Amino acid sequence: MDVQFIICFIIQWTWGFIQNLSGLCMAVLWRQKDWHRYKNAIVTHYTNRKKARKGYFAMGMFIFTDDMLPKATYNKVLSHEYGHTVQSMMLGPFFPLVVGLPSMLRFHYFSFLKKRGRRPSEKYSVRYPENWANRLGEKATGNKPIDW
Ligand SMILES: [Zn+2]
Repeated sequence: MDVQFIICFIIQWTWGFIQNLSGLCMAVLWRQKDWHRYKNAIVTHYTNRKKARKGYFAMGMFIFTDDMLPKATYNKVLSHEYGHTVQSMMLGPFFPLVVGLPSMLRFHYFSFLKKRGRRPSEKYSVRYPENWANRLGEKATGNKPIDW
């Protein structure tokens, strides 16, 4: 463990306690493969069937995604989700309301449109808080974030 990881860990588990406790519970319950570390986050992989219901997301330092994605897409998803882990450290207890809720509503709205065979009029990542997560993720990881 390096110093940067320890500092991020302390911030996540004090200032960002709520979303990290939730994230840890989900990571324990949904774990199907070994967790792995990505920068200062822990990644949990889960299968396609569940992905369709939950999407990819981050709760504090816990990122949830699917390692069966094409490598380039997988890296973009990680970059985006890592942006949400940075938001968690910036916003602490305000994260669930300021980022979590609008992000969840946007995700479900897009899923709702797709299920009805309608195309959203814009990309998922162009508006708050997703565009902010993309900017932070790209800066922190050096990888291009999602552009869907
Ligand atoms: Zn997002």
